[in-house]
Formats: sequence, C-alpha cells, structure tokens
Amino acid sequence: MTISQAHKRYEFKRQLEEMRRKTGKGTELISLYIPYDKLISDVTAQLRAEHGQAANIKSKSTRTNVQSALESVLARLRYYNKPPENGFVIFCGTLELGGHRTTLDTIIIEPPEPITSYKYHCDSAFYLEPLEDMLVEKKTFGLLAVDRREATVGLLRGKVVDARKHLTSTVPGKQRQGGQSAKRFQQLRLIAIHDFYKKIGNSASEIFLTIDHKDFEGILIGGPSPTKEEFFEGEFLHHELQKKIIGLFDIAYTDESGLYELVDAASDALQDLDVVKQKRSMQRFMQELVSDSGLVAYGDQQVRANLEMGAVGTLLISEDLRQVRADIRCQNCDYVRKETREYISDDFEEKCPLCRSDLKIVGTVDVVDELTELCDQMGTTVEFISTDFEEGDQLMRAFGGIAAILRYDAGV
Ligand code: ZN
Repeated sequence: MTISQAHKRYEFKRQLEEMRRKTGKGTELISLYIPYDKLISDVTAQLRAEHGQAANIKSKSTRTNVQSALESVLARLRYYNKPPENGFVIFCGTLELGGHRTTLDTIIIEPPEPITSYKYHCDSAFYLEPLEDMLVEKKTFGLLAVDRREATVGLLRGKVVDARKHLTSTVPGKQRQGGQSAKRFQQLRLIAIHDFYKKIGNSASEIFLTIDHKDFEGILIGGPSPTKEEFFEGEFLHHELQKKIIGLFDIAYTDESGLYELVDAASDALQDLDVVKQKRSMQRFMQELVSDSGLVAYGDQQVRANLEMGAVGTLLISEDLRQVRADIRCQNCDYVRKETREYISDDFEEKCPLCRSDLKIVGTVDVVDELTELCDQMGTTVEFISTDFEEGDQLMRAFGGIAAILRYDAGV
C-alpha cells in the first residue's frame, strides 16, 4: 500500500466512525446509495414518491423530518447530471446534537471503491454496511496443497478461499509389480513425480500470474513432508512467483479441504506480515530513543517543531489518533492560542487569562491532515501504525500517538 493509499484509507475509516456516531430520534435518517450507472432522474422520481408516502407517517415530527430530509436530498441531486466515478452516497436527516438540540444535515461521500447496488434506506441510524465492507482487506494469496498423488491450487481473497484447480497424478504407488526390476521401477517413479510437480507448477503459475500485482501478497504451500519441500526446492513455479513464496506448512489433505487447512496453518504467518513492517519502524524508533542519539521526537509539540524544520525522515502516526488542532480566541481582547484537543470534545468553557471574558474555539483542523500535509511539503515519509501489537500500542499510550525518526538532530 502506498502512503497516499494508506492516508485515504485512514480518512475513509475516520469518516465512517463519525457517521456511526450520528443518530436521529425516529426512523428518519436517510441513506441513499447511488451506483455509477444509475440515472439521477430515476432516483429523483423515487424520492418524490417517498415524499408522498411520508405524508402517512403518524408522528408529526417524524413526518416533518423525513419530508425535509427528502427535500434536502432532492435539492442536492440537482447539482448532478450523473453520479461520479464510483457512485456516491447521500446521508441526510435531523441529527440529535444533545441537550434537545437538533440539526438537519446532509453528508455526501464518494467512496474509494464502486457502489454496486442502489439502495434507499430510512432508519434511526445511517446504513453504513456497504461502505464498511470496503475497509475489509482485499489482499490475495496463492494457495497450493501438494502431495505426490494429488494437488489443489486456489486463492485466498480477504477471508474467502477459492479453489481453482484440482490435479491428480499417475505416479505409481511404492509397491512395484512383478517382473520389473527394483531399480527401473524407482527410476520411473521419480520421473513420474517430477512430471507431476512440473504440471502443478505450470497450472499454479498460470493462475497466480493473473492476479493483480499490487494485491498479490504471496504464496502459501502446504503438504506432507518431504513433498512440499521437494516442490519448493525444485523451483517448479514461475521464477517471479518462486520469490513470492511466504512459507511451507504441514497439512494432511491435498483436496479442496486442504486449502482451508493451509489457511489455518498459516494464520499466524499471515497476521504477522502486515505488522512486521510497522514493527520494524517502531523498533527503529525505540532503538534511537534508548541510545539517546537525539534522532527521535515524540508528542505533538516536539514532532511538529521538527517537521517544520524539515528534520523528520519518517513520521509514525497511530491509527487510533483522533485529535484536532483548535484555534482558540478571546471574544473580547486579542488573546489567541492554538491547542491540540481530543477529536470528540465536549462543550468548551474557559475564561481568558487576560481579561476574564469567555474564550471560544473559532476553528479546528484535523491533526493527522495537518501533519501529513506538512510531510508532503517536507518530503517526509508517513507510516500509520496499528495498536494491535505491543510497540504500536505503546506509540498511542506512551508517546501521544505521534513519533518521528529524524534525519538530523535539530536541537528542538
Ligand atoms: Zn481576553
């Protein structure tokens, strides 16, 4: 995954989190999924029909809210001749703000992947499942279950196992028939085994080479010993694929059920892959920190200062970081302050240290947006770190979710 993809994914994940927190009173929040090839005029016609039907809703407030939401969506649709590239989703409704306050809000999301089916949904919460599904990993692995009599080639996409090809061999059993010399029999058997491995290698290569390069994570080979080792050492796969072999795993079956067995056997190795890269970065950070080299920084303030000087080589941001940079001003005098605050913050109440008037937050910027933008300008690499492993968890808890490996000691 490239940096900008990782950032987009982070943004999208956060957007969904925000949507999940929004609630309405009755069944009055509208979620409208519009695929690329849907005619806007068809959508408009359906919404007008819904508007008419909404007149039958008994509760007056629900009726009013649903109808205003539909009107607002219809107004937004006027700006579109046709849906954007991946289609779009319109969320609209009267949202509860707490303390009996409400607001009619319309949010439009253009998803990172195509919307496949049209959907109109009205409920007390927004319908987010199709978007949440897009967050699921789409990584693909090649699967190969082999022994000398049988082999199965398949793919693992996300969590789905897909068996593609089943092969059987004509390799004779170990018992020779009468009349053959033991030596000759052994020779023929080895040739047959070699031929079968070649056949497996060709079939598997053909299937694996069709996978989009950027989604293809690697190949898992399962089987009894020493078959899988023989197959691996004999380099029967295409040379590009041979390099993508992640590991060999002991399994008992080599039919389709063997593929499931293989995924189970490899589950630890698979989980580690992603985390390994992140772990390496965190370990480098920890090493520099312990050796007191002056080549690390952590926490919002220190990292920011180094970033602005161009001293940061790699910025490590916790995936769980949800903070905003608030612009705080006095309502009465010239007092101004910038402060990093939690993403979901309660009502702000504070007096001005100069004149004791009320302070007010006049604007907020998302900290991750701000920092990654700075990184773009400074040629700094950004890595998002999950909290699913020890060092990643430490980044969030002990270092405020932000750390940096520096190019040089800038003395700040
Ligand atoms: Zn003041």
